[in-house]
Amino acid sequence: MRWGLIGASSIAANHMIGAIRGAGGDIRSVLSSSAERARAYAEEHGIPNGFDGLDPLLAEDDLDAVYISTTNEKHFDQAMAAIAAGKHVLCEKPLAMTVADAVTMVRAAADAGLVFATNHHLRNAGSHLAIREAVRAGRIGTVLSVRVFHAVHLPPFLQGWRIDNPGAGGGVIPDIVVHDADTVRFHLDEDPVDVVAMDAASGLGRGVEDSAMSVWAMPSGAMVMTHESFTHPHARTGFEIHGTEGSIIARDVMTQRPAGEITLRTAAGAEDLPFEKHNLYARGLDLFSAAVRGEGRPAADGVDGVKSLAVAAAVAEAARGGRRVAVDYEGI
Ligand code: NDP
Repeated sequence: MRWGLIGASSIAANHMIGAIRGAGGDIRSVLSSSAERARAYAEEHGIPNGFDGLDPLLAEDDLDAVYISTTNEKHFDQAMAAIAAGKHVLCEKPLAMTVADAVTMVRAAADAGLVFATNHHLRNAGSHLAIREAVRAGRIGTVLSVRVFHAVHLPPFLQGWRIDNPGAGGGVIPDIVVHDADTVRFHLDEDPVDVVAMDAASGLGRGVEDSAMSVWAMPSGAMVMTHESFTHPHARTGFEIHGTEGSIIARDVMTQRPAGEITLRTAAGAEDLPFEKHNLYARGLDLFSAAVRGEGRPAADGVDGVKSLAVAAAVAEAARGGRRVAVDYEGI
């Protein structure tokens, strides 16, 4: 597959270029708003072409697919242009600034017969696959509640638009709540109905929230509580699912790395759940490439991206309005 990178980003440099190439992809071009940065990024990563305009990138080299990893306010226009040019799309989260835009993107790709995926990497983690399997196998009985601990310390190299630019989609809610929403949906196979939330600026955020806590009601009656932050250097992440017959306690699993440990506690005692420690992004790329070949579906598709964004939008509205908010999936 021939790929264009829309966005000369850190995530592409640190994870996705390697994952695309590992899945056999040939990266032909990269887009930056600056011609000089496009050239420098292309040279640094061994990419033949660097462009400062989207039209020439889409016109060049008979690309099969694009990976969009610009700042969040650019995703919608860039995805719509790529879809109009007949390219399959792997788009970063959050898909767009509004749920309505995300729905438009996903419907446009479906109408054009193109694969559209959301880069929710946590679904690809061996840890989460093992948790999902244990829940499916009934090892914890009926799920009663979920606790998501996703308070981290944003590394200095990411302390740009995320902490001071609401116009670019900054803030911990668009950045991390979307991942938590996707992960909860992945494990429970159901969509949050309504939410209450609070947010705060706790040291890093300037004009955007850098911490959030929320509670979600699920259709089954299960309750979910989540904590996201950019300002917690020592908290460690975690994911817990509690059921009538057991509890799964996972530590260090809300991460980009294949790491962590999982304990299953039941009446029989505590046991470690083993899991595979493969590269999360590589698995995502393998599934995306297979979907383009007509085999299976991406780990997280466009609808998954719309739904995670809808939950984050409800959390933001609940936090700002101080009230319970129904999640609006806008018909998708
Ligand atoms: P970056 O800040 O690294 O990149 C975003 C844009 O900023 C780039 O398109 C580039 O635009 C500009 N830029 C990047 N580096 C520099 C630099 N050194 N100097 C000047 N400009 C620079 O963003 P991220 O990689 O952190 O995030 C990009 C997207 O990916 C977001 O949508 C984010 O939510 C998502 N993401 C997803 C992750 C996941 O695990 N799924 C993890 C991290 C991010 P230009 O060249 O046009 O100036």
